[in-house]
Amino acid sequence: MERFRMEIESLSKNEELARVVAAVFMSRLDPTLEELDDVKTAVSEAVTNAVIHGYQEGEGIIYMELQTEGQELTVFVRDTGVGIQDVKKAMEPMYTTDKTGERSGMGFSFMEAFMDQVLVESEPGRGTLVTMKKKIGR
Ligand code: ATP
Ligand code: MG
Repeated sequence: MERFRMEIESLSKNEELARVVAAVFMSRLDPTLEELDDVKTAVSEAVTNAVIHGYQEGEGIIYMELQTEGQELTVFVRDTGVGIQDVKKAMEPMYTTDKTGERSGMGFSFMEAFMDQVLVESEPGRGTLVTMKKKIGR
């Protein structure tokens, strides 16, 4: 098993860094370009959610952990922000609590489409943990 973890200041700008770090880490598994893009998109969605919803664009730390076990990549993205009242509802396609009309409510749907497994655990007032798994290089 190999592991890497980092703490990310909650800023929209830092989402790109998280995405690139995940891509470099998973390159150990010799992924295809498509697999790289899939994971980058999923990481981007999870980190963006932590920034925008978890910390509501205020201060906070996002914890990203990357892990490989054989050819399986696991990405953990955790925030200690506001949390989610109803995870099942939040994960429905096109569900969003955004009022500005900028968001389409497709973030979790993308994570599920691009990763093999997505698990969301959350507690209102305490934060959210998103765990995503994907087998690389089948
Ligand atoms: P999009 O991702 O398409 O820009 P969105 O972020 O609203 O829109 P999802 O990523 O699918 O859509 O998330 C759905 C909803 O789940 C969000 O609107 C928000 O209410 C809630 N949510 C998601 N992630 C978090 C989080 N880390 N903390 C608190 N709430 C969250
Ligand atoms: Mg989103």
